[in-house]
Amino acid sequence: RAQHDESADELARRERIFAAAQERYYAHPPQIERGWRHHLVDTTGRAYIDMVNNVAGLGHGHPRVAEAAARQLRTLGTNSRFLFRDLAEYSERLLALMPQGSGLDTVLLVNSGSEAVDLAIRLAQAATGRRTIVALREAYHGWTMASDAVTTSAYDNPFALETRPDWVHVADVPNRYRGTYRGDDTAGRYLDDLSADLAALDRDGRDAAAFLCESVLGNAGGVLLPEGYLAGAYERVRAAGGLCIADEVQVGFGRLGSTFWGFERAGVAPDIVTIAKPMGNGFPIGGVITSKRIADALATQGQFFSSAGGSTLSCRVGLAVLDAMVEDDLQRNAENIGARLADGLRALGDEHPMVAVVHGAGLYLGVELVRDRATMEPADAEAAAICERMRELGVVVLTTSERSNVLKIKPPLCLTAQSADQVVAMLGRVLREGW
Ligand code: PMP
Repeated sequence: RAQHDESADELARRERIFAAAQERYYAHPPQIERGWRHHLVDTTGRAYIDMVNNVAGLGHGHPRVAEAAARQLRTLGTNSRFLFRDLAEYSERLLALMPQGSGLDTVLLVNSGSEAVDLAIRLAQAATGRRTIVALREAYHGWTMASDAVTTSAYDNPFALETRPDWVHVADVPNRYRGTYRGDDTAGRYLDDLSADLAALDRDGRDAAAFLCESVLGNAGGVLLPEGYLAGAYERVRAAGGLCIADEVQVGFGRLGSTFWGFERAGVAPDIVTIAKPMGNGFPIGGVITSKRIADALATQGQFFSSAGGSTLSCRVGLAVLDAMVEDDLQRNAENIGARLADGLRALGDEHPMVAVVHGAGLYLGVELVRDRATMEPADAEAAAICERMRELGVVVLTTSERSNVLKIKPPLCLTAQSADQVVAMLGRVLREGW
C-alpha cells in the first residue's frame, strides 16, 4: 500500500511538470530503482525481466562501462576539436564493423539517433545537391525537426499529412504481413511502386537525394522486409542518382543475431548508416557512418561540431561497449536465445489464435496480436491488458506499431535461456487465464 502511494506520488509529481506529449509506460507504472543484466528492480525490491531496454544492450549496470566512464570522468573531459587517441581509435573500431569494400570509411559522432538521422539527411542533401528524402510509411526516425519530418508512423506523427515539409516523399511500406501486398514474395510489386514514385519525383523536378529506411521495419513490430526488397530499392534509388541511408539505430549493433547490421541480411551496403541506442549502453552516443566523399560535402555548409558528440567520455564509453560486446559474446547470444524465444512464442500461436505471427530475428521480435486471423483486426486493447498483466507477473514487455497490437521484444542482449523460457511461460499463462 505504502509502495503504491509512493509511486502514485512520484507519478503525480512527474505529470505536473511534464508536457502532455511526453510518453510514459503503463497506467500504474512501477517505480524503478535499479537494473542488473536483463532485470529491473523496483523500490520494493521486486525484480522484473526486462524485455524492453534495447539501449542497455549489454545489460544494465555493466561494470566494464561503469568503470571506464568513472575513470574517464576523473581523467579528462573535452571535445573532438582536441587531439586525443580514443577518438580515432573508436572511429576506426566502428568502421571495422562495416562490410569490407563498402567504402564506408568516415565517422561523425553525435549524441542520439535523432541527431544521427538529422545529420544523415543533411549529408545526403549536401552531397547530391538535391532535397527530396524518400521515407517509408509506418516508420519512426526521431524527434528533431528533420528526423520527425521523415517519421511517418501515424502513431508517432498523426499530423504529418498536413504539416510534412515538401522535401519529404512518403513511399509505401513493404509490410509483408499487413501491407498493400501480402506474403513473402511481394518485393517485386513494392519495387514497381517505388520505381513509379521515383519517376514521378523526377517528372516533378524533385529528384531524390536519398532513400531512408530501417533494414527491418522496427516501428511496425520487427517485420522483416520481403526478400529482395532492400537490394532492389537501393539499385533503383542509385540508378536515379540518389543515396541510400540505413537507419540502424534500433535494429543494428548485433541485435539481429545472424548479422551485426540489418542491411547485411539483404547483402547490401548503404551510402550512409545511422547508429545510436546501444552504442553507449545508456550513455548517449550516436553516429553517422558514410564515405569520405559524402562526408566532405558537408563542408559546403560550413563547419561541423557537436560539443559532446565524440567527446573523451563518449569515445571511452563507446570503446568499453564494443569490448564488452565481444567479451560477452552478445551477438551470438542474441542469435541463440532469440531463436529459442521465437520458437517458444510461435508455439503459443498453435494454441492461441490471437498470436497471429512472430516477426523479427535475433533479440528483435514482435508478437502480433489479432482478434481474428482472417480479418487481422488488431487486438490493441488486449495487447495493453496483456502488458499490464505481464508486469504483475514480473515481465516488462510493451507494445508497438501504429495499431499498438504488437508486443515488442527487444531486451538486453544478455538475456538467458531461463528468462526467455520464463517469458514464454508467463505469456502462455496470461493468454490462457485472460486478463
Ligand atoms: N531511428 C530509429 C529507427 C529509432 O528507433 C529511434 C528511437 N526510437 C531513433 C531513430 C531516434 O533515436 P533517439 O531517441 O536516440 O533520438
